[in-house]
Amino acid sequence: MLEITPIQLSMPFRLGSVNCYLLNTDNGFFLIDTSSSNNRDELERVLQRAGCEPGQLKMIILTHGDFDHSGNAAYLRKKFDAKTAMHKDDLGMVKDGNMFSSRQKGNNIFTRKLIPLLIGFGESERFEPDIYLEDGDNLSQFGIKAKVLSIPGHSQGSIGILTNAGDLFCGDLFESTKDPGLNSLMDDPTAAGLSVQKIKSLDVGTVYPGHGTPFQMEKF
Ligand SMILES: [Zn+2]
Repeated sequence: MLEITPIQLSMPFRLGSVNCYLLNTDNGFFLIDTSSSNNRDELERVLQRAGCEPGQLKMIILTHGDFDHSGNAAYLRKKFDAKTAMHKDDLGMVKDGNMFSSRQKGNNIFTRKLIPLLIGFGESERFEPDIYLEDGDNLSQFGIKAKVLSIPGHSQGSIGILTNAGDLFCGDLFESTKDPGLNSLMDDPTAAGLSVQKIKSLDVGTVYPGHGTPFQMEKF
């Protein structure tokens, strides 16, 4: 069994909305991304309504380290006693709150210090993950039939989660707030192009993006 519940929450400063995905499996719940800290109460209510109680959330998987995806990971890990997993290349984002640690652009003192303050990614949101995921990792060992794809471009440590059924959780490589396309915030366009080619070479059905609504890969 794999039941996918999309959870769409709003970002601070009217920056639009961001998605997390709750996956209900025979082996418990898995949460892909966690939204930003301003949405904590609403996210908890959604988890509760879905029947995901402390002890039943097995793993929190982050597609990348950005604050609007990782903002509740530390909190939920503690409350639900869940493991957190992500790619090590985005570690600086969640460990130090430096959203530019794995990026080529914008890595100056202003963006390093000021942006985390503005967006509310404070000390209590910072953490070090329990598990590092790499390209090709099989998640069956953790109880979910899916594998990890390294898909850099938006950030160096961006990953996708591809289920055996062909569902792809692509983080911020793609977005579909209007039409499906590459996310407008792309740090490394060359890497992004290669990531798209990689995904096109695979058997992907529905794509679940970090922002916007799910779409069929063939429409891309
Ligand atoms: Zn992002």
